[in-house]
Amino acid sequence: MPDELLERLRRFHDDAFPQYREQFKELVDGGQHPTTLFIGCSDSRLVPYLLTGSGPGELFLVRNVGAFVPPYDQSKGFHGTAAAIEFAVLNLNVKRVVVCGHSHCGAIRALYGEVPSASKNLAQWLDLGREAILPVADPGPDVLRRTEERSIVLQLERLMDYPMVRERVEVRALSLHGWRYVIEDGEIHVFDIQRGEFIPASKAENAGTGPYMPAHVYDFPDGGGAPAR
Ligand SMILES: [Zn+2]
Repeated sequence: MPDELLERLRRFHDDAFPQYREQFKELVDGGQHPTTLFIGCSDSRLVPYLLTGSGPGELFLVRNVGAFVPPYDQSKGFHGTAAAIEFAVLNLNVKRVVVCGHSHCGAIRALYGEVPSASKNLAQWLDLGREAILPVADPGPDVLRRTEERSIVLQLERLMDYPMVRERVEVRALSLHGWRYVIEDGEIHVFDIQRGEFIPASKAENAGTGPYMPAHVYDFPDGGGAPAR
């Protein structure tokens, strides 16, 4: 019986790769220079390349359950996500960091329920979203949406605890973007800190601002310092 996954690998090499061969060669010879760090939920329905129209070399991706940002202080053990943030900012010098959650997020829903006892790592990991929950026992769609949004903002705030992120944001060399992808609509809602809400991309004026302002959107009052959050 043919292994379907193996068939797909062969098809990629034979049919798709030739169209990208030159592009990959340049990315090998010149190295990667992605300008965006994309921190997304692992959910299979969130497809960053499709959403952003990106190709090889454009997105530095890190994904985890819930699109969570761990604390900078290493208080919760080993963190691939924290390492990726440090590498993207310090080594790749990315200009944007996107935190992308989504509708119908299982991680967010799990914050309101029981996690199987065997999932010890998952139970601890979900702590990173716990501050976002609302005081209701049986969350409906509206509460889940608000929790998804609150969690995204929470992760943006935690990103600001990374010294290399804060320094660059404050000198406007880096911008932070909170996105919530609505799967059923095929539309990103971007967090607009000035309005304090998530705006559908079709109606938004920018790709999201997050805590503190990106260079091209906002002038700090009095020519210096960062505005209060
Ligand atoms: Zn999710």
